[in-house]
Parts: sequence; C-alpha cells; structure tokens
Amino acid sequence: MSDILVIGGGVIGLMTARELAVAGAKVTLVEMSETGRESSWAGGGIISPLYPWRYADAVTALAGWSQREYPQLCAQLAEETGVDSELLRSGLLILDAEEEAAARAWAATHQAVIEVLDVVALEASEPGLAPRPERVLWMPEIAQVRNPRLTKALRRAIAPRVTIREHEEVVELLVEGDRASGARSRKGEIRADQVVVCTGAWTGKLLEQIGAAPAIHPVRGQMILFYGKPGEVRHIVLSHDHYVIPRKDGRILIGSTLEEVGFTKATTAEAKEELYRSAVELFPLLKHTPIEDHWSGLRPAAPSGVPYIGGYPGIDGLYFNAGHYRNGLVTGPASARLIADLMLGRDPITDPTPYALGAPR
Ligand SMILES: Cc1cc2nc3c(=O)[nH]c(=O)nc-3n(C[C@H](O)[C@H](O)[C@H](O)COP(=O)(O)OP(=O)(O)OC[C@H]3O[C@@H](n4cnc5c(N)ncnc54)[C@H](O)[C@@H]3O)c2cc1C
Repeated sequence: MSDILVIGGGVIGLMTARELAVAGAKVTLVEMSETGRESSWAGGGIISPLYPWRYADAVTALAGWSQREYPQLCAQLAEETGVDSELLRSGLLILDAEEEAAARAWAATHQAVIEVLDVVALEASEPGLAPRPERVLWMPEIAQVRNPRLTKALRRAIAPRVTIREHEEVVELLVEGDRASGARSRKGEIRADQVVVCTGAWTGKLLEQIGAAPAIHPVRGQMILFYGKPGEVRHIVLSHDHYVIPRKDGRILIGSTLEEVGFTKATTAEAKEELYRSAVELFPLLKHTPIEDHWSGLRPAAPSGVPYIGGYPGIDGLYFNAGHYRNGLVTGPASARLIADLMLGRDPITDPTPYALGAPR
C-alpha cells in the first residue's frame, strides 16, 4: 500500500507526484494511457498566460511563483535525467497594443516587465514579421519549454521513487465512511491513505460519482507545426489570440483554436486552414515552409481559468489538482507545491482559498 495515490499522469500529476516523493511520501501514480500524452503534450509550453492581465489574481499568483521556479526546476531535471526541457527565454511580442493601458496597470501591480516597442524597434527585433503596428507590447522575460521534453524529464526523474502504473484507467474512487481509501481501476483496487485527482479534462467524470464535482470541461485546441529554420522567427508572437512559437531547433508552432466539442480529439481541415492563414499573415516566409504536423489536445477548462486545488469537502484524504485550462504549464510547479503543502500539512506557498471547490470563480 502507498501513502499517496496520484491519479493522472499529465504535467500536473507528474509534478504533484514529484513534490510528494521528494518530501518522502511513498507514491503511486496511475495513468490510463501513457504519462504526458494528453493536453500536456499538445500545449505550446509558453511560460506565461496569454494576455496575463486578463486573468484573476489567483492565476497570476501561481504563474509568478512557477516562472521564478522554472530555471531551477529544468536545471535539476536535466541533471537528474539528462533530458533538456529546452527552457528558452524567447520573450513575448504582443501585437494587440489596444490593451496597453490594462497591461501597464497589471504590470505595475505585479512587478512584471512590459515594454512598448515602436515600429523601428519592432523591425529590428523581428525582421520576418509582416504587420508593422506603430506600437507593440514586449515582455522580454517570458520563456517557453518544449512540453513533451519536460514531461519526459519529469517521468524519468520520478521513476526511481514513484510506482508508475500506465495503461490503467481508474473507474472509481474508494471512500470508507468519511475517508478516502484508494481507487478502483480496471485492473483492481489500489489502496492508499491519501488520493489526489489530477485527471485534467476528465476530472468531473471521477468526482461526480461521489458528489459535487469541479466545473471542469474539455476545450479542444489545435496546433500546427512548421519545419522552420533557427532565426526565421525570433520571439513568441501573439496577435488576436493566435500565437507563433519558435523552438530552439527552428521548428515553429502556431496555435491555437478554442473549440467546445466535448471529448472529441480529432483534428479538422478548417482549423488547419485558419492556423495556416494566421501564420502566413504574420510571417509570409512560412508560405515556403513545409507543415510537419497538426494535432489537438483537450484543455481542462475551469470557470475564469482558476484551477481547483485542495481537499474534497467532507472526505478526509481526498484531494484534487485540476482545471488549469490554458495555463497548466505555467502554473504547474506552483500548483504541485501547493497541493503537496496541503496534503502534507505544511505552510502553503500561497493562500489556497481561491482554489477550493466551493470558491467563487
Ligand atoms: C493547444 C494547446 C496549447 C496550450 N498551450 C499552453 C501554453 O502555451 N502554456 C501553458 O501553460 N499551457 C498551455 N496549454 C494548457 C496545458 O497544456 C494544460 O493546462 C495542461 O497540460 C493540463 O495538464 P493536466 O495534467 O491537468 O492534464 P493532461 O495533460 O490532460 O493530463 C491528464 C491525464 O489524466 C489521465 N486520466 C484521465 N482520466 C483518468 C482516469 N480515470 N484514470 C487514469 N488516468 C486518467 C489522462 O490520460 C491524462 O494523461 C495548452 C493546451 C492546449 C491543448
């Protein structure tokens, strides 16, 4: 029997398992497919919310803590596993300068760096970009990670101390009286003193069985990938909710769509066309660049994008860490530390109240 059962092996479950194992807990992680293959694989890996001023302070608090933690986390993972998560401080250019006032007010409150570039500075900074607005917003500190590499590194890092059970779907949470006692999977019972549900978009399905469930639903996001060359695009560029991310090796990602289609993960020709059009409007050189891949993922959407992190009311030992919507990479490290603090009775890194099940969102 394990002290703690983590259900779900996306970035949230992997980081949660790591935090708990590092603190000395005996942890089992159970995943219905393979770790890091769902939303956490599909995402762009931008270590910032898009238009961060549009979000609640509860999201900003988790994002800020995680942004400070990422360099150390990636360095430690690389040392332990040999896998480079490709943390890259590529900076974020935002072409929607009509949001300048809101952006500046938010930056002043949260000590964030947001500069304004004029058209000359923009041309020097991003020569391949076609639109030349008079003013753009520039966040030089924003970084990205290559999320499939990050989840690979996390899995390797926890493997020596966490029991990882893949291809095993949990179908029921086990509760005895007012205490969690484990879960039932398609392969049998897994007993544990504490259980934490990190099942992303699927979280409602499990928690509904025992009562009130977090209001999390899937929102599909599609991306395309160009086989670009290093330097063609220099920074992350965001314009009208579409973004371009240049990877270290020259590959260029374009995202993304926001689609309410339930648990359907198929990609569509319409979305590919929409993303392609947006890409070549921003960077005409991409007309001559082959598209290498096109995929989708199901974001775990919670109201206002504020994740659910905390203990299940009335059931001792049952916890959740889910609903990170568009920001699971950037809020993951803080969410994992916070849930570990709550489960292990430590002082929490931030006030947990806004993330509770019944908190207003
Ligand atoms: C197109 C796109 C772009 C994105 N871009 C960014 C970005 O740039 N920056 C950012 O911060 N975030 C981004 N995100 C959001 C981010 O990817 C998610 O918030 C994050 O991956 C959520 O992590 P998770 O572990 O909760 O979910 P998931 O990665 O979906 O993991 C949940 C896991 O639980 C498993 N599971 C579910 N039910 C069960 C069960 N019953 N039994 C066992 N296992 C189960 C699933 O198989 C899955 O592996 C993006 C998402 C998408 C789709």
